[in-house]
Amino acid sequence: MAETMAAVRLFGPGDLRLVELPIPQPGPGEVLIKVWRSGICGTDLHIAKGTFPAANLPLTMGHEFSGEIVATGSDTASLGVGDKVVVDINIACGHCSSCRGGRKLFCPQVAQLGVHRDGGLAEYVVAPAGNVYELPRFLSLDDAAYVEPLACAIHGQDRIGIRSGDRVLIIGGGPMGLAHIALAKLAGASSVIVSEPDPGRRRLASSMGAIVLLNPIETPLEEAVAGLTDGIGPDVVIEAVGSIPTYESAVAAVRRGGRILAYGAAPQNATMSLRPFDIYSKELTIVGSYAGTYDTWPRAISLLAAGQFTPSLIVNSIRPLADAVDAIRGLEHDKSIVKVQIEMPR
Ligand SMILES: [Zn+2]
Ligand SMILES: [Zn+2]
Repeated sequence: MAETMAAVRLFGPGDLRLVELPIPQPGPGEVLIKVWRSGICGTDLHIAKGTFPAANLPLTMGHEFSGEIVATGSDTASLGVGDKVVVDINIACGHCSSCRGGRKLFCPQVAQLGVHRDGGLAEYVVAPAGNVYELPRFLSLDDAAYVEPLACAIHGQDRIGIRSGDRVLIIGGGPMGLAHIALAKLAGASSVIVSEPDPGRRRLASSMGAIVLLNPIETPLEEAVAGLTDGIGPDVVIEAVGSIPTYESAVAAVRRGGRILAYGAAPQNATMSLRPFDIYSKELTIVGSYAGTYDTWPRAISLLAAGQFTPSLIVNSIRPLADAVDAIRGLEHDKSIVKVQIEMPR
């Protein structure tokens, strides 16, 4: 095996480079994974610009990856070399009250691969065995690179609890908004309305089963949505953009008694105007969704293995590792790229 590998490293806000590093070695309870594919998401752009809090720079990015175990440390249970795997990126202490209460995302020590610890936008990554899931036979490593974003979307759907017959508005037809379309339909939504200014993304949303598409630039969102929901508004609004105007539209558009899922990551210091009277008089429920973990991982694996969710509908750009820095920067302006995955050298 080679001794060095290529990795996409963040050295400081805006300072992202493809560099050569020693291949990490697995310690006790850890495995070394040769990465197969690694997805890039909107959060990576925020991390690279410094508007999403990352830690321990310089840091190898990448939190959506699949791969094969090539070495194990001691105590890695049944895992072995050759296993095809994905990794729950959320590594927590396992002992504090949050961990014991099933809320490890709130563990004071929680660290995410690719955000706080070296991740999978590299040829190799080390991960704790307890966070590794072996893939079922019918799930390809290509599709498995979508497990992490799907697990996050499943967590959001768990939080908002779509009921059969609910009318759902999804603000944003980016990769996560599109994943929410598929999940909302599986959950029994009677209609899924998507608001997205980019025509290509609107076409994709339509091909994934969104019944009605609006152009939020031509018609104010709450007006257009009211027209499609008998003047009442949607039961559920999923904000999957992370901008302040779209968060404000979510509050304006949702029906009285409706529910809003805060799914899009807004810049950490951005603030929005929200009238408490609206929460009170509309009896709003607003829930946040930060990330998937625990059983959302095996459930994402099951959905993919059963063919209930097709990542290739969303992943429309596959590029080599040498292009990864460009691909992250390109997310800022090129809306024709919905979802990029990086294929590692083989
Ligand atoms: Zn992500
Ligand atoms: Zn903990």
